[in-house]
Amino acid sequence: MPTFEKRLTKALTLLQSCKNITAFTGAGISTESGISDFRSKGGVWDRYRIVTYQEFISSHDARVEYWKMKRELYTEIKDAKPNRAHMALAELEHMGKLKCLITQNIDGLHQDSGSSNVIELHGTNRKAVCLECGKLWPIEEVQEWLESGETDPSCDACNGFVKPATISFGQSMPEAEMVRAFECVSNCDLLFMIGSSLQVEPAASIPREAYSNGAKLIYVNRTETPSDSLADVCFRENAGHVLGELVNMF
Ligand SMILES: [Zn+2]
Repeated sequence: MPTFEKRLTKALTLLQSCKNITAFTGAGISTESGISDFRSKGGVWDRYRIVTYQEFISSHDARVEYWKMKRELYTEIKDAKPNRAHMALAELEHMGKLKCLITQNIDGLHQDSGSSNVIELHGTNRKAVCLECGKLWPIEEVQEWLESGETDPSCDACNGFVKPATISFGQSMPEAEMVRAFECVSNCDLLFMIGSSLQVEPAASIPREAYSNGAKLIYVNRTETPSDSLADVCFRENAGHVLGELVNMF
């Protein structure tokens, strides 16, 4: 791998010459904000059992278990702040370079850092939704219900099950978001991937789709991905460091 400086220069040249950049982010961009990667060692799926969507809608006990996990994790994430990598992407958007930001994250940190064109493929942890009538609540409000003793919250309008507005295991991907995401990916001239190991779908397909439409690829991820060989530049360094440097050099 060429030196860090050489790779930075190459990435900078690509960012400067491209006009229609799409960013794609995964858990790795938020670890520097103190949010643990679900899949990594010590991550959420090491500490908690996965409650599938089917279990959630069919069992009171599963809903209680699920909300208990969400309540415990909330204390961990409620004060998380965007880091340099989130800020750098917001800056690229303000410069008119970054047209679209697709994320697998549910933490809302991209919006906190000032990005506005964000497509959340896995929904958001910032809201809860009634699975029956679609009523939405800020997650803070539902967390207060849990604090005051509720264990399986239900909708005050229709009595339906209330669930965080995230896409759970066993739940299908949101159709409108997927369509918008793939439109952005097929039309971009540079796909800037940060913090995904690209192991599962649709993550794995996103850079491949961009590549097959002639886009350049920049990867920033701590570990190897199955499509590193397609990328024009790969970084293994911390996302905050890499993106911070790149935006400073603009
Ligand atoms: Zn309802």
